[in-house]
Amino acid sequence: MGPGLADPRLEILVPEAELRARVAELGAQISADYEGRDLVLVCLLKGALFFCADLARAVALPLRLEFLRAASYGAGTTSSGSVRIGELDPAAFAGRDVLVVEDIVDSGLTLARILEAIRGTGPRSLGVCCLLHKERERSHAVPLRYVGFRIPDRFVVGYGLDHGERYRNLPHVAVLAPDGAPERG
Ligand code: 5GP
Repeated sequence: MGPGLADPRLEILVPEAELRARVAELGAQISADYEGRDLVLVCLLKGALFFCADLARAVALPLRLEFLRAASYGAGTTSSGSVRIGELDPAAFAGRDVLVVEDIVDSGLTLARILEAIRGTGPRSLGVCCLLHKERERSHAVPLRYVGFRIPDRFVVGYGLDHGERYRNLPHVAVLAPDGAPERG
């Protein structure tokens, strides 16, 4: 981490080397599970950008990449209950094996809405690979086929995750100590 990124409010939760090792494991698992399939990775922007870019290169299959913008709106650190999803191209998903790549699952609301929208396009199969899963009661049950790390219910940044659009470029995942209300990314 460069000196300009050093911040006393940041505490490393998942170091860069652990992220790299786990992404390699997930990639190997996905390669085995989707062998011979028409795999589409759906990168949820912006948070899953780095995770998906690394994961896609760890999968040894001729996969397709799609990008979807999704944002849940709300103040503070809890879900607002409304999720805005970008436009879906049904032709990109219909009849294919779709794996949604998400940065973090908290309440599960964002993912539930996205899965609902993609299911409507008629994929052959639909799964989720999330990097981080917060350990707490979930208000929306979503089936997660692959989980990178289970983490405590803290507000984290880095490796794609932001706080007010900052910190996405941290090479690790860090807990951001609250000294104000974090905004949702
Ligand atoms: P959910 O809908 O599951 O409650 O929230 C998922 C979305 O909220 C994630 O895609 C992410 O954008 C945001 N989010 C949830 N927890 C965190 C967190 O700890 N840090 C950051 N930066 N964003 C979070």
